[in-house]
Amino acid sequence: MRLNRIIHDERFYTFRQFEEDLFTLQATYPQFALNTIGHSIMGRPIYEVVIGNGAQHIHINGSFHAHESITTNVIMRFINDYLHALSTNEPIRGHNMHHYFNEITLSIVPMVNPDGVDLLNNGLPENERFRELVLDINNQSTNFDQWKANIRGVDLNNQYPANWEIEQRRKPKQPAPRDFPGYGPLTEPEALAIYDLTLMKDFDRVLALHTQGEIIFWGYEGLEPPISRDIAQEYGRVSGYRPIQYVDSHAGYKDWFIQDFRRPGFTLELGQGVNPLPITDLDHIYEETLGIFLANIYV
Ligand SMILES: [Zn+2]
Repeated sequence: MRLNRIIHDERFYTFRQFEEDLFTLQATYPQFALNTIGHSIMGRPIYEVVIGNGAQHIHINGSFHAHESITTNVIMRFINDYLHALSTNEPIRGHNMHHYFNEITLSIVPMVNPDGVDLLNNGLPENERFRELVLDINNQSTNFDQWKANIRGVDLNNQYPANWEIEQRRKPKQPAPRDFPGYGPLTEPEALAIYDLTLMKDFDRVLALHTQGEIIFWGYEGLEPPISRDIAQEYGRVSGYRPIQYVDSHAGYKDWFIQDFRRPGFTLELGQGVNPLPITDLDHIYEETLGIFLANIYV
């Protein structure tokens, strides 16, 4: 499989490389559809990849958090391997991917937070206004290793209308490298793009990829359907990750999805270590996550 990868996923993604790889996949594989679902604060497109033609609509996203951008690599590698399998009729771990294609319509947003990811992996923005802004928020430090937020210091996974006020009370009150939930829910275009996409496409299931901990969070306030437990257990079995029902956290994407749709929503904490996880962890994290992606066909 490895020899047939046409993307450049062996390094952390700059936005430019990410976009280049998407265009390469689009030019190579007819089953690949690319949409723009919104734009970041700095005007970068937020891309959605759609593959499949099935009745079940599943959404996967990555890099809500800037220093967790290895999740984009995991997703891009899966997209490349999936498309390659379709074109060669090769199975992945014994799974017929044409069957997967016909059962599941996959909506994938590999990079929810392009400005934050590019700050981590490409350095300070050239635009002077944004350069000054992020340096101010980061106390003039040029080390952004702990930066999770979007470019103006809002934590995108604290932006959703699911007890947002609780996070507002106990989290930073102003823009910060992490945890500031904004001055209100859905003030940030990146969070809003995923919100609108989710309402429009009415997903049956969503998976938000984060790092780290090797954990599968699957509940929210008792609002999750009973099937969520079974799915989480199967995800755990194939990945080695630990299913956890509740955590003291609100206003996340999967929290809102479970609350408003009463359907299975998951936050996957990939890998183990200190964020940002080193890119050398990619191979084994990919193998763990691949099992979860494939499990969607039978659980
Ligand atoms: Zn995260």
